[in-house]
Amino acid sequence: MSQIETNTLPQMNEVWSQTLMWQPNDTQKQLFQQVYQAVIAGNRQQNLTRITSPADFWEKHLWDSLSSIVGLPAEVLNNKLQILDVGTGAGFPGIPLAIAFPHWRITLLDSTLKKITFVNDLIVKLQLDNATGIVARAEALARVPGDRASYDLALVRAVSKPSVCAEYSLPFVKKGGLAILYRGHWSEEDTASLESAAAQLGGKIELIHPWETPLSQGIRHCIYLRKHTATSKKFPRAVGVPEKQPL
Ligand code: SAM
Repeated sequence: MSQIETNTLPQMNEVWSQTLMWQPNDTQKQLFQQVYQAVIAGNRQQNLTRITSPADFWEKHLWDSLSSIVGLPAEVLNNKLQILDVGTGAGFPGIPLAIAFPHWRITLLDSTLKKITFVNDLIVKLQLDNATGIVARAEALARVPGDRASYDLALVRAVSKPSVCAEYSLPFVKKGGLAILYRGHWSEEDTASLESAAAQLGGKIELIHPWETPLSQGIRHCIYLRKHTATSKKFPRAVGVPEKQPL
């Protein structure tokens, strides 16, 4: 196989449509390929991901990032949503979502300057005018007017334990909006502890969607937390406290 072939992402048209009822067009496929190449190149400068083969990247970064759309009704997908990706790292799930839904406005947040420098360079390279990277701690940005209670959706993948992710995300969500936690394995105990944390933050578990990833049958769960009441001013607690003393 030539170098070009080995570095090309698989197409997976049927898998996209059968699992997510969505399929990328040619432009979106080209953009996904550019994301892949940029992340592989960026991995030489900093540790961005251990997932590097085309099939793994397609499944564990691209498909996985978009998997949360299954829990959202079609009319919501068509709305001009304001979305925050908390702890985006190299841009997941925010960048694939910005490519898939150009009418959404996506803010990608991470506390590490190097990660956001990578993300902002990628945004420029891909000419994604609906995405912006910001360097900040979630606990600090969630207190800023214009960010607090300002997003329709706040997404958190691979950042911390579930109750910490809830404290990082729910304060950003508008009343009636959703925080979505991307998780692997999930248990009854996880549900009980997250339910209690979410209640303190003005939210409630609305849906737990179980998944098997389509190529390697990995276990995933998308947890949808609906915000029904404004989050108390005492949350999120000071920087570092949610992680040290989870709700
Ligand atoms: N979401 C990405 C993914 O799924 O590939 C990145 C996951 S990476 C393991 C976790 C990221 O969360 C890191 O880049 C870290 O800097 C960021 N992070 C952790 N705590 C944070 C906080 N309190 N505020 C902002 N970013 C945070």
